[in-house]
Amino acid sequence: MTTALVCGAGGFIGGHLAKRLAAAGVRVRGVDLKAHAYAPWPGEAFTIGDLRDPRVADAAVTPDLDAVYQLAADMGGAGYIFTGAHDAAILHNSAMCNLNVLEACRRHGVPRIFYSSSACIYPEGIQQDPRNPGLREADAYPAQPDSDYGWEKLFSERLYLAYHRNCGIAVRIARFHNVFGPEGDFDGGREKAPAAICRKVAGAADGGEIEIWGDGEQTRSFLYIDECLEGVARLMDSDFTGPVNIGSDELISINGLARMTAEIAGKRIRLRHVPGPLGVRGRRSENSLIAERLGWRPTRPLREGMERTYRWIEARLRAG
Ligand code: NAD
Repeated sequence: MTTALVCGAGGFIGGHLAKRLAAAGVRVRGVDLKAHAYAPWPGEAFTIGDLRDPRVADAAVTPDLDAVYQLAADMGGAGYIFTGAHDAAILHNSAMCNLNVLEACRRHGVPRIFYSSSACIYPEGIQQDPRNPGLREADAYPAQPDSDYGWEKLFSERLYLAYHRNCGIAVRIARFHNVFGPEGDFDGGREKAPAAICRKVAGAADGGEIEIWGDGEQTRSFLYIDECLEGVARLMDSDFTGPVNIGSDELISINGLARMTAEIAGKRIRLRHVPGPLGVRGRRSENSLIAERLGWRPTRPLREGMERTYRWIEARLRAG
């Protein structure tokens, strides 16, 4: 692959992906509503543009591209996607990006497109147990995601699969599970649990207290950004369309994540449980399919990624 476009390149995963592609010698272009907040652009052209506008998508997706990575989405952590207050915006904005980018790929003959779906597509009913044995790809149907963010992702998965069947575009669909790492939002309301906990612990005194939403016994599996990108690269190089989980199978409760972070910080921290948006009770990636089809699965321990993420957030806070 020589030339690629990253949609959502001003965001957390898109920014890291652009860096990885550029380091591999790919000519990378990017498009996003905003420039990246924490990292310089590593590639060729970066365009500020709104992909809800079909003319912007049409100008960004040029016929010389070997691949498009579509990561642009109206998204955030539980404080953004689970309150219900942003459902119309999420459905409208993200669907418009996907409709426009895919149609531009078809019109300009782009041979291959990656789409970042989410673990949020899985049915709410099978995620009530905090010891979740793991969500298999086939569990998606009959569908009952717990958020409109998840419904949009499921609709868009179907959209990509339909373009693949009807228009001959090679599509690659990954369901990301809670990706985290440095150079992502850690405040402002859209941050996700690992970054929010790092920020709270970094801001607390030794012996102090931080707030945790709910009883903190809800569980998740969190995937470090480098492993996520390795999975994306392997999926793009493969002949497997997906959808496939790209997630860790190391399950931890939110209380456990907070205790791990306090340990990394070398602080004694008390947890104060307060009401807040929670999402499902237990969610974990099941990785048989990725192992079988790509000969690989994420394996690095959560703690390693949390140490890097904590150090980065702590340094940003100290720098003001
Ligand atoms: P992010 O919010 O950091 O990045 C998304 C980017 O899309 C942002 O920079 C945003 O400005 C851009 N964008 C939004 N609307 C746009 C528009 N109309 N036009 C142009 N750009 C627009 O999120 P992220 O964590 O980097 O996630 C990237 C992708 O991966 C998203 O599609 C997300 O749904 C998916 N995903 C992420 C996770 C995760 O844990 N981070 C989990 C599952 C799925």
